[in-house]
Amino acid sequence: MKSKGKFGKYGGMFVPETLMPALEELEAAFNKYRNDKKFNRELNELLKDYAGRPTPLYFAKKFSAVCGCRVYLKREDLLHGGAHKTNNGLGQGLLAKYMGKKRLIAETGAGQHGFATALVGAYFGIPTEIYMGVEDIRRQHMNVLRMLVCGAKINPVSTGTGTLKEAINDALRDWITNIETTYYVFGTVAGPHPYPTIVKHFQKIIGKEARRQILRAEGRLPDAVVACVGGGSNAMGIFDAFRNDASVRLIGVEPGGKGINTPYHGASLTKGREGVFQGSLSYVLQNKEGQIQDTYSISAGLDYPGIGPEHPHLRDIRRAEYTTITDKEALAAFRLLSEVEGIIPALESAHAIAYAIKLGKKMKKSDIMVINLSGRGDKDMDHACNALGIKG
Ligand SMILES: *Cc1c(COP(=O)(O)O)cnc(C)c1O
Repeated sequence: MKSKGKFGKYGGMFVPETLMPALEELEAAFNKYRNDKKFNRELNELLKDYAGRPTPLYFAKKFSAVCGCRVYLKREDLLHGGAHKTNNGLGQGLLAKYMGKKRLIAETGAGQHGFATALVGAYFGIPTEIYMGVEDIRRQHMNVLRMLVCGAKINPVSTGTGTLKEAINDALRDWITNIETTYYVFGTVAGPHPYPTIVKHFQKIIGKEARRQILRAEGRLPDAVVACVGGGSNAMGIFDAFRNDASVRLIGVEPGGKGINTPYHGASLTKGREGVFQGSLSYVLQNKEGQIQDTYSISAGLDYPGIGPEHPHLRDIRRAEYTTITDKEALAAFRLLSEVEGIIPALESAHAIAYAIKLGKKMKKSDIMVINLSGRGDKDMDHACNALGIKG
């Protein structure tokens, strides 16, 4: 069993026996429907007419001038729901419907995945419950309201730091008790097999479109693709299509918190160590005794001590590179993109924007960079403006 869902030595299924039947049922259903004509027709229609795919690949002229190379933004911020999370939510929601499940549960950090699940629950008419840490509820009030308006129930989680890690633990506990009726919509490419594979499958559309779009716009592949990394789903979603294009650098940007030498940030791969966490072997932030480290990042969506198992594998085989950006740099990029392009990025996405500015300095003017703009910044306005000292 533990050999399933491996990416090099990472991944697998490190879960209690009681969870195995649910994961096996899920894997069987996913394998049955992933190439099913009717399932895919229904999903593609939903992605197009309900969610607004394909999202544009936008040549950011003024931001390009700032970076010193040709920069394109993959506009997942324009996807219904305001972030790439909707791709995965719709895919798994449809899978739940085909499996005949009567209840959806999900964990959420920034609230984006919770909202994506809530809107999917509303669309399919399936009752939905969201587990969310109390600290995240405080930071992400707008998304809490969006979930409630769509009819989802929110279960506040007050253990530990009251963030994503604890919310996932509670959601897993719920799933174990309600396996028969309940589908657990997992939000990123982490967790036990088959989730990393399922979530990547539904997010791959980002890179598939971006590759086609950049070839049409420039007649060649980009020199670099940049994406922020929390659990790693938007990065994996855009990286996958370019994986076999050796000339394309794939760069994941983790949150550096207040600075790389402070312990409280979510740079799991850059500052973490190998370890089993929430169902799979990957990289995780832990102290000398192997205790999972509490994290702090300005962006709730990146505030997670783990990372999906395919990312350390991509780094080991030298196919992808990973780096960090501090809160301060992300905030400055949030402001800059808004000012020069009139596009307000999510604070998560602002990490990729900030790194692009640094990377651009080392690139030629004719070089091409594609940045995955994973979401829009509306949810972060209060928090970011507070930190930036912008008063209304
Ligand atoms: C959730 C979220 C992320 C981080 O999650 P990944 O799985 O790493 O993509 C990044 N950006 C936005 C806008 C998000 O909502």
